[in-house]
Amino acid sequence: MGVNPHMEAIRRERTLVFVKPDGVQRGLVGEIIARFERCGLKIVGMKMVWPTKEFLDRHYPKDETFLVTLGSKTREAFETYGMSLKASMGTEDLLEIGRRVRGWLLDYVSSAPVVAFVLEGTQATSVVRKIVGHTLPVFAQPGTIRGDFAIDSPTVANLEQRAIRNLVHASGNVEEAEKEISLWFSPEELFSYPRAGEEGF
Ligand code: GDP
Ligand code: MG
Repeated sequence: MGVNPHMEAIRRERTLVFVKPDGVQRGLVGEIIARFERCGLKIVGMKMVWPTKEFLDRHYPKDETFLVTLGSKTREAFETYGMSLKASMGTEDLLEIGRRVRGWLLDYVSSAPVVAFVLEGTQATSVVRKIVGHTLPVFAQPGTIRGDFAIDSPTVANLEQRAIRNLVHASGNVEEAEKEISLWFSPEELFSYPRAGEEGF
């Protein structure tokens, strides 16, 4: 039976993850990596880096869609807890809130080293997002990384003028994954090898 190239591409999908400063500082790097390894994802690149704000400015999108998404997560949490967005943030403009959150995010992720890695496997991007859980730890299910190890919510983070501490970054979709991998890793830092059970092991 010949190899179906389309299927091979799905099985070899790659995605970027990094353990954020809170995960590194809380000593959760091993715990977090283990969760990806045990479901069968393959680590094909890994390193510790201390990202600068300039670098992160290239990593996090600047477009209106991304900023409004950040703002709408804030609104979702404020609505759930019956809190007034206007009273806490001084505005209900999602774009403006998104801009502020993005600024806090650059401060947070540049505050200490992170551990970045590229994972490969069947539909790796969506599998990784499932393991990571909801962006806002208060909404993340138990069993997910964010649900099990974090408790943060925009209702407090925004009042304290800081980003949500949610332990990990994971690419949001396949297109984002491709962009992020080429920003964080050079081709020489990524490896192809068989995992146990794969042909060639
Ligand atoms: P992710 O892909 O699940 O990490 O979420 P996003 O790409 O939407 O947001 C990027 C990061 O911004 C999140 O991981 C959080 O650290 C932070 N963040 C997102 N939404 C909010 C928010 O409403 N308030 C605050 N303070 N931080 C947020
Ligand atoms: Mg994202």
